[in-house]
Amino acid sequence: MQDLPPRILSGVQPTGELHLGNYFGAIRQHLALQHEFPGECFFFIADYHALNTVRDAAQLRTMVFDAAVTYLALGLDPDKALLFRQSDVPEVTELTWLLSTVTGMGLLERAHSYKDKIAKGLKPSVGLFMYPVLMASDILAYRASVVPVGKDQVQHIEMTQDMATYFNETWSPKAPVLRRPEARLSSAPLVPGIDGRKMSKSYGNTIPLFLTGKPLRKRVGQIVTDSTPLGQPLPTEQCNVLALLSLFCDQAELEAIRGYYRAGARDGQPFGYGHAKAILADRIDAAFGEATLRRQALLAEPDRVEAVLQRSAARARELAAKTLHECRVAVGLR
Ligand code: ATP
Ligand code: MG
Repeated sequence: MQDLPPRILSGVQPTGELHLGNYFGAIRQHLALQHEFPGECFFFIADYHALNTVRDAAQLRTMVFDAAVTYLALGLDPDKALLFRQSDVPEVTELTWLLSTVTGMGLLERAHSYKDKIAKGLKPSVGLFMYPVLMASDILAYRASVVPVGKDQVQHIEMTQDMATYFNETWSPKAPVLRRPEARLSSAPLVPGIDGRKMSKSYGNTIPLFLTGKPLRKRVGQIVTDSTPLGQPLPTEQCNVLALLSLFCDQAELEAIRGYYRAGARDGQPFGYGHAKAILADRIDAAFGEATLRRQALLAEPDRVEAVLQRSAARARELAAKTLHECRVAVGLR
């Protein structure tokens, strides 16, 4: 196992339109890594996970397709990285079972993401509770060494490390079968939503990547700010608009905008949150304009998208089948 090549794995749930948090927290570094990383890159659409919240088959199919189109439109190169559906590799569900037999309830009960989702009113199903085990299975089935994610997923990676250790100590102490992965954070590990909490599809507080024109302006207009009147100095700490602007601006631009905040004015005219939001909306529109065009072209080519998913799944499954064979032998099922 020591000789395994470096390997990246990361996933995104098809639980709604992908948003700025997904892009800056995860997808942007996935796309950079496909060129920079000295090993295979595995990116997948977590449709098994999505079943915890999506209860309409047609809607799930649409959202899986949309997630694939989004990755490709943003620049995923299928010759450099794999992009596949989680459920095209059913071996991960078997590994989920094997891991669940060595994972303590206490470990899963400590999961922040589970606790947050329950607090937000999601039904506490066993599936939701088991989320970290299914996630660990994906990572461990491909023996990934690095998992590039947002900050919300770091605890799940630590749990994955624990589960790999439990498995190896129980069944393969001399020759560990499962590889312990490491998390890798992007430069924007926690993007706030329009209400200031973590931007999340399930919190209804997102700015979707391909929102444009008037609907985008309306959404950006809903970002929560304090009630400083127009023309007064604005606080530069804890401002959701400024936090989102920092994703699009370089240091000099950001410093200029901070200057407008501190003065409550720009070029002698009053400057307020509305003006900052207008800059932000323009930036979002400009940043994803080209990808929007590529996305529209891809939406009309479902067969091409499906071919990418299936070709990637074949390679992913080959690896997962090998790991599962070794796991079965280790535990005594073979
Ligand atoms: P859901 O609400 O259904 O859990 P989500 O919006 O949290 O959806 P996921 O599909 O769970 O999105 O996450 C995909 C990737 O995006 C993960 O790597 C996650 O860490 C990252 N991510 C999600 N939201 C944010 C955010 N607000 N800031 C930074 N990274 C994020
Ligand atoms: Mg999430």
